[in-house]
Order: sequence, then C-alpha cells, then structure tokens
Amino acid sequence: MRYLKIFFRFAAMIAAACAVILFSNMENRPGLRDFPYPYSAMLSIQSHIDGCTEEEFRIIHDFLNTENWSDKYGKGVGLDVGDSMWMYLYNDGVAYREEDNMEPGDYMSWFRGHTFEKNSADLIKAYWDMDYIDSIHTVGDFSMTGGKVVFFRELAKIAYEQMNERGIYPAVWINHGTETNVQNLGGYSPFGFTRYQSGDKKGSEYYHADLMRKAGIKFIWNSICDSRFGMKNPLFPILLRDGQTFWGFKSYTGYPTKGGYKYQWSPLDLADVLKESNLDKIIENREFSFIATHLGSADNMWAIMNDSNLRAFRTLKAYQNEGKILVARSSKLLRYCQMRNFVSFEKQGNDINVTGIRDPIIRGITLTSNMLRGLTFYVDDSSAATLSLYGERVPEESIQRNPPDETGKESIAFVW
Ligand SMILES: [Zn+2]
Repeated sequence: MRYLKIFFRFAAMIAAACAVILFSNMENRPGLRDFPYPYSAMLSIQSHIDGCTEEEFRIIHDFLNTENWSDKYGKGVGLDVGDSMWMYLYNDGVAYREEDNMEPGDYMSWFRGHTFEKNSADLIKAYWDMDYIDSIHTVGDFSMTGGKVVFFRELAKIAYEQMNERGIYPAVWINHGTETNVQNLGGYSPFGFTRYQSGDKKGSEYYHADLMRKAGIKFIWNSICDSRFGMKNPLFPILLRDGQTFWGFKSYTGYPTKGGYKYQWSPLDLADVLKESNLDKIIENREFSFIATHLGSADNMWAIMNDSNLRAFRTLKAYQNEGKILVARSSKLLRYCQMRNFVSFEKQGNDINVTGIRDPIIRGITLTSNMLRGLTFYVDDSSAATLSLYGERVPEESIQRNPPDETGKESIAFVW
C-alpha cells in the first residue's frame, strides 16, 4: 500500500512537471487575440493587506478605484485595483509600527487581534462586494517573535466557514509571511527559508490545504520572489505536498543586487516600479505584469499618496485610456489567463462557438459568459460575426465588436 502511494505521488509529480513544461510558455493561441481589444498588455497591482488600517484602505482605494474628487489628492484614477484580506491578526506587534503605538486590533482584519470578536468583518464584506477585495493574504497574520507558532487547523476551518457564509470566495491566495506563518504552502523546500510552510502537510496540525479549494481558492502565489516585470504567461502548476494541484502565478517583487535582493514591494517603490520604461516594455513585448505591493504598509500613514506615486498612477490610467495597458484586479486577470490558455472553441466562417475548457488542473468547469470576460476572437467581419457558448447565442449586450487591430484583423469578444 505504501509503495503504491509513493508510486502515485511520483506519477503526480511527473505529470505536474510535464504540465509545467507544456504550459509555462503558452502564448499566442491561433484565432485568439492575446489581450482584450485594443490593449497590448495587461497589468495587475496586487496589494498585500499587511499593516493597513481601515482609514488607510478607504483613502487609498477611494483614489485608486474611483474617480471621486478630493481636495488633497485631486481626482481619483478609477482603476481596477484589488486588495487582500486577513481573517486573524495574531501578530505580536513587533513587525508593526511601534512608534505609532498601534495594536494588532487597530489594523484591518475580520476578527479583532487575538480574539473571535468581529473587527472589520462587515467592511471587508462591503469591499468584497465592490471588488476592492478579491484575494486572501493568508488565513491571518501569525508573525510572532521568538519562533512562537499560534496557528492551528481549526482557525483555518472557522475562517473559511465565516467567509463562505457571507458569500466570500476569494480565488487568490497570496501566501507570504515570516516563518511562524506555518499555514503557508506551495513553495515548500526542505533546504530553504520556505521549509516552514506546512499548510499542505497531511497529518500536521497546521494542515488545511484540503479545505482551500472548497473555500474558493484557485490561484496561489508560492511566495517565491520574481524579478520579471512582464511575462507571457503568469500561470504555472503548483503541486502541493498532499497531492493536490493548484494554479500558481508569478509576481514581480524586486530585483537581485550584488550582495542580495532589492525588494520593491513597499508602496514607496511604486513610482519606480510603474515607471514608463517598464510600462512601455510590456506593451512592446505584449506581456502580463503582476506587481506585488503593500499599499497600506508604509510607516508614514499617507506615504503612498506622495507626488511621484500620484503621477505614476495617473500615467498608468493614461496608458489604459489610450488603449495600451488594461489594469485589472488579480482574480480577474488570472481568470482571463486561465480562459485564454485553455478554452476550446470552433470557428465556422464568422461564427465562433465556445465549446468548453481543457484546464489540466481545475476539472469540471462549466463556463459562463461572466468567466469569459475579455476573451477576443479574430473574425473576418466583426459586424456580421456571432458568438455562442455551448451552442447558445451570447446576447448582444455581452458582446463587443471590434474594428481591425494592429494585425489588420477584426474581432468579436465577450465584454470585459
Ligand atoms: Zn504580505
């Protein structure tokens, strides 16, 4: 029995390795446009919720996600920027701003500090409904000093139940933290820093990976830093230690230096990360970009709203307005990548029929127009073209008909 288990585990690893090779460079599917028309690249600002207060969240996202006017910062940019959430905040405070005399309960989390008393639960639910929150950072922040571990499986179970009861099913698991955050998973190595990751270790009191998929999670950042600002395909398979496979994704976190690594995931780095030369490069290479940042984490409460950052956000908005880069929250962008990579369709003359999805990792998906948002098919005549899903015509209000793009070809798409 034991040998059989080992055999199946080995077979699963080989299959995952093959999948990595097959899909890591997946791009340019014939008949499909790389990005929704008219864009040449897509970008996601993925915010970790570390050290963010309710007030910081409101001010930052009011500017980023709406076009409201404020006396202090002018008109907001109205971009689709998603943030993450924490259910618990057990952090013993040392990692936070001691000079501000803040307690863990002063930060945004579902439960207050070390208790089961509700803290920001209603606010998180409201922001979930507004699409300002679409990811879970991890079950909670359990960064403790002295190597003390306070996480255990039951906490994850309660967290998932609470979220799901309120209709919250985050597709994205962000996954980083200090080594007392034993709930992390996906990047385990017995030799490196990530050897603390135990969320996928069956039999461990920290094991919770079996509850994750049911709770809604599909995409995992394995907390391995990446220095590429742009990439052709951010998705790759992650085989967990319990044998389950999830989609992993890459995220830009900084760049290597002579003696180490320069992290660029402070909000104070955003102006440099979003500089025009970076934006122009992903347009030229036709790439996706995922940027990891911590919007609410700076020591100085309003540091993110400095002039160079505000300028960078406005420039990014201008790139979107000019049809160059489409900015999307992580869950929406990752879903788009998944669909673009694996959807199957038939083309007969001007008629497109989406017949299903051959996702090698997530099985049994029944497609809806909502899941296919942005997917763009080349046709000869977009005004005469039809779009169907499982043989049924997609209503006109869910369709976008596009004139010729830079290739000279017209296209028809599911609206973004
Ligand atoms: Zn974080």
